[in-house]
Amino acid sequence: MVKITGVRRLLLATNNPGKVREFRRLLDGLPFEIVTPAAAGITLDVVEDGDSYAANASKKALAFARAGGCLALADDSGIEVDALGGGPGMYSARYGGPGLDDAGRLDLLLRELESVPDGERGARYRAVVAVAAPTGVLHLAEATFEGEIGREKRGERGFGYDPAFVVPGGRTGAELSDAEKDAVSHRGKAVRDAAAYLRTLGE
Ligand code: IMP
Repeated sequence: MVKITGVRRLLLATNNPGKVREFRRLLDGLPFEIVTPAAAGITLDVVEDGDSYAANASKKALAFARAGGCLALADDSGIEVDALGGGPGMYSARYGGPGLDDAGRLDLLLRELESVPDGERGARYRAVVAVAAPTGVLHLAEATFEGEIGREKRGERGFGYDPAFVVPGGRTGAELSDAEKDAVSHRGKAVRDAAAYLRTLGE
């Protein structure tokens, strides 16, 4: 059993503002100082070449834990669209190639699904969260968030594919309040699992 004593610092293995905001909310109240790579002066570009979400999350968490000399938390996530055979999945951040931003990727997805009828537009977000120490990966948590891809974008909140990700009840991920999204989202569930694990360290 790992025990952490002294200053508890948890380095987030991402500078993605949408993810950082969600992580900070979800980890609020834990006895750790939450730091971003930018705030810690750490520049690290981890190549996500693993063959699974878990492999990529583990690789990122371990690389940042080693660079920061502290605990690190990473996630790897994606959107799995039934009509695309589960794609883009692990490749969601790179969908459509390097020239596209979040809005461009979402527009591309909507165009690709134009001819897909209602009832066949199911999708889910999936996240794997890894917690690592410099010595190795300590904990992995995985969760999904079921919904479907709508036909237009609605809502100003969230990030990424949220404006077209329709959740049970009919609103999009970008129309949910932070608390509503955290309660049911893939990242919310996986980070709460990781947070429960982190709480046991040093007890
Ligand atoms: P990665 O985990 O950094 O490899 O990127 C995951 C990709 O899936 C990004 O393109 C995100 O925009 C997308 N994604 C993951 N989780 C969410 C979410 O909660 N809302 C919207 N897009 C998401």
